[in-house]
Amino acid sequence: MTTLHLLGFPRIGAKRELKTLLENYWKNEIDEAALLGGARELRQRHWLLQKGAGVELSPVGDFSLYDHVLDAQLLVGAVPPRFGFDASKLSTEQYFQLARGNAGQPALEMTKWFDTNYHYLVPEWHADTAFQAQPERLLAQVREAQALGLRAKPVLLGPLSLLWQGKAKHAGLDKLSLLPALLQAYRDVLAALAAAKVEWVQIDEPILALDLPPEWLAAFEPAYRQLQDSPLRLLLATYFGSVAEHAELLQRLPVAGLHLDLVRAPLQLAAFAEGWPQDKVLSAGVIDGRNIWRADLSRVLASLQPLAADLGERLWIAPSCSLLHTPFDLAAETQLDVDVKTWLAFAVQKLNELKVLKRGVEQGRDAIANELAGSDYARQQRAASPLIHRPEVQQRLADLPADADRRHSAYPVRAAAQQAWLKLPLLPTTTIGSFPQTAAIRGARAAFKRGELSADAYRQAMQQEIELAIRRQEALNIDVLVHGEAERNDMVEYFGEQLSGFVFTAGGWVQSYGSRCVKPPILFGDVARPQAMTVEWAEYAQSLTPRPVKGMLTGPVTILQWSFVRDDLPRGEVCRQIALALNDEVRDLEAAGIRVIQIDEPAIREGLPLKRADRAAYLDWAGHAFRLSCHGVADSTQIHTHMCYSEFGDILPAIAALDADVITIETSRSDMELLQDFGHFRYPNAIGPGVYDIHSPRVPPEAEIQQLLEKALQVIEPEKLWVNPDCGLKTRGWPEVEAALSSMVKVSKTLRRRLAQEADATV
Ligand code: GLN
Ligand code: ZN
Repeated sequence: MTTLHLLGFPRIGAKRELKTLLENYWKNEIDEAALLGGARELRQRHWLLQKGAGVELSPVGDFSLYDHVLDAQLLVGAVPPRFGFDASKLSTEQYFQLARGNAGQPALEMTKWFDTNYHYLVPEWHADTAFQAQPERLLAQVREAQALGLRAKPVLLGPLSLLWQGKAKHAGLDKLSLLPALLQAYRDVLAALAAAKVEWVQIDEPILALDLPPEWLAAFEPAYRQLQDSPLRLLLATYFGSVAEHAELLQRLPVAGLHLDLVRAPLQLAAFAEGWPQDKVLSAGVIDGRNIWRADLSRVLASLQPLAADLGERLWIAPSCSLLHTPFDLAAETQLDVDVKTWLAFAVQKLNELKVLKRGVEQGRDAIANELAGSDYARQQRAASPLIHRPEVQQRLADLPADADRRHSAYPVRAAAQQAWLKLPLLPTTTIGSFPQTAAIRGARAAFKRGELSADAYRQAMQQEIELAIRRQEALNIDVLVHGEAERNDMVEYFGEQLSGFVFTAGGWVQSYGSRCVKPPILFGDVARPQAMTVEWAEYAQSLTPRPVKGMLTGPVTILQWSFVRDDLPRGEVCRQIALALNDEVRDLEAAGIRVIQIDEPAIREGLPLKRADRAAYLDWAGHAFRLSCHGVADSTQIHTHMCYSEFGDILPAIAALDADVITIETSRSDMELLQDFGHFRYPNAIGPGVYDIHSPRVPPEAEIQQLLEKALQVIEPEKLWVNPDCGLKTRGWPEVEAALSSMVKVSKTLRRRLAQEADATV
């Protein structure tokens, strides 16, 4: 007998019920009792669904009202003191204030959970952070599960991962110094769970898949020795990467079991399978919790059988990581291509795959012969499908000249050719692409999608919006204009919908943070561009004005990063295909007279592999793909790129290697610290640091913009400095946008005059 379990489940619900509950509560349309009651009902429905699929240990505590990392902080009473809340009496209202901010305090900072698109709330650590176990909420859920007759397995974020993922709020604070006090709180939590008759607790330590400093690694053994005295059995869960290099440590740790991600890192099994301690469970994470492809059941079963022979009951099977990162149920997709649909598995289907595997492990191949045949058939059919394989795409890539990712000339030559026609002043002003997505714009698009607005009427509506954006930018006296992206729902979806090789789900939502979800496109086949995607809009915008209009594309790495990507080709290859499709668009834009083109790559940093050893290879193919998308453009065509909301300091050489003529980059988060980095690094091309934080309706005062630009001028030559906001403006309203851009232009002009006078004086 093996045990089937889950690390976590998508709490948002099949129909995003949790989103509806939360948003109705925040709008005061339902009260607290209705929110909590609705959440309880949803949680219980999920447990029963899991049980029906044969899950034998039900995860408890993975269901969070906002974020499970916030819940982990609260479980040990770590409420940031700046809120002034009593951790032992935290109300629902206060819980949401931590997550979303209140009149006096900004929310906890949010950042991406490892290399996923899920955002967690970052713990704040102070030298005097105090901990105290607050297990009541978790215990209540344990009792709920038990009342349903389930074996509850609470899921905790481990103490070392919790500390590591938090932010030291004072310079010089060693986060590890908080560990002893934190461990006491964990011990108290475990004691409370033991008293509630829990047998197993899952403790997640995903940081084991990172390159940890030695002192952090060394902390594991003593820490877990301290947690050992409870009668509970601990399953230490690792995921998102290999932990093979810690095999010895993990065998030694005083825990009752270990979970391995065998999808991301299948080879690590070799480091654990032989001589696995007699008293420990090994949980094999064999179903992909990060992607939507149906598993190759024959292959997985073949890998499990020898393990089962060896470990017997001590073999558990599970998804690779929490199913939080997958959409809920494929059955709800009635519009998907029928072939493509047979290749996919969402959370509910993954549960079924696990159930089948368990039967196969326990009763042998023959017991699941039908399911194996079905899986094999889908696999063969996918491998041979003409929907996926386009020989012309593969041929085109193979035929590319070796220097296809190089511009004709080096940057200084290009810059001169561009300036010859652009004739831009010093410190030219521009924006990042989108202008406010007004209710009128969203309404027109929705009506068009519903078929209530004809294609012609929709085009006219969008043209009107473009004209409005152009006129406003002219009135503001901006130098390089944009068309405003009114026609775009989402910067990846818009392109995915027009490229071949992508399909879209109706309800394949994945939680991004709180009540927010994303619906990533599914990139299933060779990518090609049947026809121009943006040229008509850009051309129309350019026809309205003598000023240069910047064409606007989403880059290959960002399209890849924000999609569910096929698993039958290396990611770098897929990215090259997207790059070529975008290159078609770049060339068409150029031919249509759009000779400033921005290729956005906001997601380039988040694709960086967790392990340092894998990073150079990633940056290499990512850079290659970006440059490939500019293949063949004239020296006089100016290529921009844009990046935002990531730590870029450590990948500056790779950013420079993109060789974009201009990079516009968000700087508000780092208060221009980033610029120091760019300065030290001597970034070779032009750069536009953001001077207007677009996340707030606040209009930055001129003095503030000026200060930022003066700081920038200390490290960037005036000939290479652009002036722009941090990011796109689609979430803002026009009045504040006009006010902020007007200040931006004014400051740029003031500084321009000053620079000209200084230049005159020195001649
Ligand atoms: N061009 C996009 C916009 O302005 C860029 C968005 C982004 O960086 N995420 O909306
Ligand atoms: Zn941006």
